[in-house]
Amino acid sequence: MAEVIEDIVIVGAGISGLTTALGLHRLGIRSLVLESSETLRVAGFALLTWTNAWKALDAVSIVDSLRQQHQLLDRIAVPSTIPGEPPSEKSLKTKGKHGDHEIRCVKRKLLMEALEGELPSGTIRYSSKVVSIEESGCFKLVHLADGTILMTKVLIGCDGVNSVVAKWLGYKKPAFAGRSAMRGYADYKGSHGFDPRFLVFSGKGIRCGFLSCDDQTVYWFFTWTPSSQGN
Ligand SMILES: Cc1cc2nc3c(=O)[nH]c(=O)nc-3n(C[C@H](O)[C@H](O)[C@H](O)COP(=O)(O)OP(=O)(O)OC[C@H]3O[C@@H](n4cnc5c(N)ncnc54)[C@H](O)[C@@H]3O)c2cc1C
Repeated sequence: MAEVIEDIVIVGAGISGLTTALGLHRLGIRSLVLESSETLRVAGFALLTWTNAWKALDAVSIVDSLRQQHQLLDRIAVPSTIPGEPPSEKSLKTKGKHGDHEIRCVKRKLLMEALEGELPSGTIRYSSKVVSIEESGCFKLVHLADGTILMTKVLIGCDGVNSVVAKWLGYKKPAFAGRSAMRGYADYKGSHGFDPRFLVFSGKGIRCGFLSCDDQTVYWFFTWTPSSQGN
C-alpha cells in the first residue's frame, strides 16, 4: 500500500538530480528528490565545466557566486609528444559555434552546495534508497529500502551509473570502458601563480591534466587506458 503520493519523484541527489529539481522549482513545479546517502554527497574534487554547462546553470540562476569562485580559463595548452617541440596553445577567447566560450574548473562541493541551497527545504529526502519500481495504472510505485512505498505520476532517473530507473526501463547495463583514473587537487594555501589555462599531456594510453579552479587551488587528473597491444 502506497504511503505517499507525489507528482514528481527524482531518484538521485547528484548534480543532475539537483539541477532537474531546481529547474522545476524555478518553473513553480514541486518535486521530491530521493537520495540513498544520509547527507549531501559533496565528496570529489572538481569538474571541467564547459560553455553548455554554464548555460544550464544560468538557466537555473545559480551562476553568480560560482563565477566569482572559479577562474575563467583562457587557454588550452597541449604539449607536443615530440621531445623538444613547444606546446601548441589554443585560445579560448575566440567565439565558438554557440558564442563566447566559458570554461571553468568547478569544485564539486561548491556546485553541489549551491544547488542544494536554492531548493526549498524538504525537497531532498535522504536515507531513501530506491530498491524497485513497479507500474500501477498511470502511477509508478517506488519502493524504498526501509519499506516505504511512494506513488508518483512522474519518475525521473538521475541515479548515476548503476541506475535502478534505467534498469527498470530496460536500458543496457553500463559498459566498462577499461579506463582507470586518479584525480585530486592541490591547495596552495595562498596564490599558486599559474596562468588560467588547461594543460594536458597524453601518449601511450596515458592522459593527464592540470588546471586551476581559482588562484589558490589546482585540479589534476591522470587516466590510463590500456591498449590492445598490452602497453
Ligand atoms: C561522490 C561523488 C564524487 C565525484 N567526484 C568527481 C570529481 O571529483 N570529478 C569528476 O569529474 N567527477 C566526479 N564525480 C562524477 C560526477 O559528479 C558525476 O558522474 C556526473 O556529474 C554525473 O552526475 P549524476 O548526477 O548524473 O550522477 P551521480 O553524481 O552519480 O549521482 C547519482 C546520485 O544518485 C544516488 N543514487 C544512486 N542510486 C540510488 C538509488 N537506488 N536510490 C537513491 N539514490 C540513489 C547516488 O548516491 C548519487 O548521489 C563524482 C560523483 C560522485 C557521486
